[in-house]
Amino acid sequence: MSEITFDWKPGIEEVCLKLKGKKRIGIQVPDGLKTKSHEIVTFVTKLTEAKVVLWGEPTYGACDLADRPLEEIGADALIHMGHLPMPYHSEFYAVPTFFVPVRHTGKLSLSKKAINELKKILPQKIGVVTTAQHLHMIDSAGKILEKEGFDTSVTTGGPRLAAAGQLLGCNSSAARKLNVDGYLYIGTGLFHPLTVALSTGKPVACLEPHNGTVTIADPRPFLKQRYAAMSVATNAKRWAILFSNQIGQKRIELADKIEELLIENGKETIMIGSMHQSHDQLLGLGIDAAVITACPRLAIEDGPTWPIPLLTVPETQILMGKRDPEPYPFDEFA
Ligand code: SF4
Repeated sequence: MSEITFDWKPGIEEVCLKLKGKKRIGIQVPDGLKTKSHEIVTFVTKLTEAKVVLWGEPTYGACDLADRPLEEIGADALIHMGHLPMPYHSEFYAVPTFFVPVRHTGKLSLSKKAINELKKILPQKIGVVTTAQHLHMIDSAGKILEKEGFDTSVTTGGPRLAAAGQLLGCNSSAARKLNVDGYLYIGTGLFHPLTVALSTGKPVACLEPHNGTVTIADPRPFLKQRYAAMSVATNAKRWAILFSNQIGQKRIELADKIEELLIENGKETIMIGSMHQSHDQLLGLGIDAAVITACPRLAIEDGPTWPIPLLTVPETQILMGKRDPEPYPFDEFA
């Protein structure tokens, strides 16, 4: 297995060339790079001679930028690491914001054995999708697969996406836009390929790019868990509608609509806003169920650990009779 490390220095060096003369620079670092934070801050300080601060709130994507709080403390630039920009809100940053892509340095592992497994799972005409950390592997994977008889396609999704083949947990348009019969997902984790499987209804094979393991994205256990959460929420009386003020997760009008829908259905409601949402915010409020209008990953990945059901917007609409329960509607940000 090839070594998996994060390649962040070249991106920082490039960005720092644009930051000469800046006095105070804020840096956001995703969890996967947290242990490198001190090294990164020291490196940027040396290259720019600015006062550099690490922003301590978690960051999960280009959807939650620290540009506004950094403006409040007089920063004149933000370096956001690990995610690509979301083109649709790139004109609205409160301070100049620079994205440093971070990619895994491990080489693509696509052995003959893996290719044979892919042939068993996938039809000939496939789309190739991945996350920001593995975008650099798309071309080489495509070339190998074409030689093996696959017809591969890649495209750029909607305005939340910056690169061809890029998926977000809340947006699989780079898959949906393709006229293909199945998908290869290059990456780790099940969440992204599940969004593709659910939003397209087509087979999705997952290639773990560092060890070459091939699996199928099977949505059945996921669906069982989501319909169970909906079932538990059926008799909930008091609902919290959770919303975020973050630039790429803010859906306040949708939160208003969901509250109206719940009230129409005889529910008690309370709208709760925050940067990031957690069950602690609901303690003592007598809440029986919650719906999240911010990042839908929270409901899917953390929801099962909450003591009350945490539903996505489409799940709540199903429960309130506003939507068909099947096919399961993934909560996608446009
Ligand atoms: S899945 Fe959540 S964290 Fe990721 S980009 Fe979408 S809203 Fe942001």
